[in-house]
Amino acid sequence: MLKLIRPVKPVGFQDLADVETNKIEQQLVNSPDKLEFNDGFWGKYKHHFMTAQSRKCGYCEMPLSDYGDVEHYRPKSVVDDIDSEGSEREALMNVSGRKFKKSCKYGYWWLAYDWDNYLLSCKLCNQPWKRALFPIQGGRIGNDNDDSEYPHKSPQRGAIETPLLLNPYDVRDLSEHIKFNSVGLIEPFENSEFGKETIRTCGLDRLSLFQARGRVAKVVNNIIDRFSRVDDLEQATFLGQIILDMGDKNSAFAGMVRLIFHTKSEGCSWESLEHFVASNAPVTSSE
Ligand SMILES: [Zn+2]
Repeated sequence: MLKLIRPVKPVGFQDLADVETNKIEQQLVNSPDKLEFNDGFWGKYKHHFMTAQSRKCGYCEMPLSDYGDVEHYRPKSVVDDIDSEGSEREALMNVSGRKFKKSCKYGYWWLAYDWDNYLLSCKLCNQPWKRALFPIQGGRIGNDNDDSEYPHKSPQRGAIETPLLLNPYDVRDLSEHIKFNSVGLIEPFENSEFGKETIRTCGLDRLSLFQARGRVAKVVNNIIDRFSRVDDLEQATFLGQIILDMGDKNSAFAGMVRLIFHTKSEGCSWESLEHFVASNAPVTSSE
């Protein structure tokens, strides 16, 4: 996962979003048993997130091989719990044995048309894995007016909750929650509850991802080792530039590369690496 800067909300978006949210509010009064959302709404804004995320999934960092999904970070229709974990089938990318159970009657319906609730996700992270899951620290704050038969009360509008699913658009420091080893295996950092639930929710430890990350992880580990040992300034700058290129926001698994650098360099920041390379790179003259 790579920390991202949310694209600017387009002019006119909010007015359209308010109209759609009002429609849901009306449905809650007139036909509360089945809310129908305007499913074509958020897809119209996908290109903003494609650009902001360099056409990569916000959760797993894989470059998209198709159109991807505009994913609702907080689920709009329902909230699910995991009934059984499941796993990816070897040599395939479909998921076997993962089962869900409906947690409550409604999801975060008032965030269906909320700009800050969107991110671009690959179909694999979104559909078979994350789906309508949304783990909360200390449990969800339910709406006291919800007297439905579901195991939990629907989310309370306006309640301040602490999501355990890491959001690439959040300000949280990812290095405090997720780490990668030298072959691309993802693990929670120091048993972080946030890291654990994020990996679990999106299946970030699935085999196909581990295999895709593995080569990048091995190469960058090797380069960082050489970078930390080399005495020659020119050579160090050259190696530093390779690490920066591998962790460039447009590169696959850039977030992993940056976290590996953070771990191996014992706290040396990505910004200090950028500064080191910029300060020592050969100056090209136009004269
Ligand atoms: Zn993904």
